[in-house]
Amino acid sequence: MESLRLTVYKHKKFPLGRLRYMDLVIKIRNITRDFPLGNEVVKVLKGIDLDIERGEYVALMGPSGSGKSTLMNLLGCLDTPTSGSYLLNGKDVSNMSDDELAEIRNKEIGFVFQTFNLLPRTTALENVALPMVYAGASKKDRTERAREVLTNVGLADRMDHKPNQLSGGQRQRVAVGRALVNRPSIILADEPTGNLDSKTSEEIMKLFGDIHKAGNTVILVTHEEEIAENAHRIIRLRDGMVESDTKKQFQSEGARVGQ
Ligand code: ADP
Ligand code: MG
Repeated sequence: MESLRLTVYKHKKFPLGRLRYMDLVIKIRNITRDFPLGNEVVKVLKGIDLDIERGEYVALMGPSGSGKSTLMNLLGCLDTPTSGSYLLNGKDVSNMSDDELAEIRNKEIGFVFQTFNLLPRTTALENVALPMVYAGASKKDRTERAREVLTNVGLADRMDHKPNQLSGGQRQRVAVGRALVNRPSIILADEPTGNLDSKTSEEIMKLFGDIHKAGNTVILVTHEEEIAENAHRIIRLRDGMVESDTKKQFQSEGARVGQ
């Protein structure tokens, strides 16, 4: 497939390679997250530090219950930490109000869930356009952009279908389109292939690869090593802490495209 131009690289002023060291999209320090449970407190995240640069492709791994989804929800501003700091594009989001977080989420975050989370009685086009409604875009702009995004994720011929008229893989493509529509700074995906068969998973992973190549920052949770191989960096959580964090040597663009 041709490489997709899914989104405009937001920070043209800072091309990769120049000033890269300054271009942290995520900087978290000593993040903890406790959950009250009856009279107890469950300590789920126990002090996590993480720097993620713009344009990285990260796989987040770890056993079930290690805190992956809890961390993703914090990164995606769906939740706030018990303690610690989170700078998203240099802005401290760790103590924001729900309204402020909702605005940041809409602008900066594209979230893809294992269970797709589409509105059931709404077409693919409307599902994808919805985040633009909250962003205040005109109907014309919404429709135009949603069409463009759906075409890029391979659903040009399915725009007027509702979720129950689509396969699992197609539904996840719609969800990916919805995540991309506002040109966010980061794409977060929590086990996006968890409900898909292996062939469909491969297609979705190809899509994430294309999204990354188009200049996006991608963080993806998976427990399958094969899927994590697509990323350039693997962070492993264990018991609420980072157990390991390994970066692959950056392959040349030519080598990756040739795969
Ligand atoms: P993972 O995604 O790695 O499987 P989670 O982040 O979903 O793990 O959960 C990590 C731990 O936190 C689990 O033991 C889970 O039971 C606990 N947990 C998650 N959310 C809550 C909550 N809202 N209240 C209490 N415990 C929670
Ligand atoms: Mg999880």
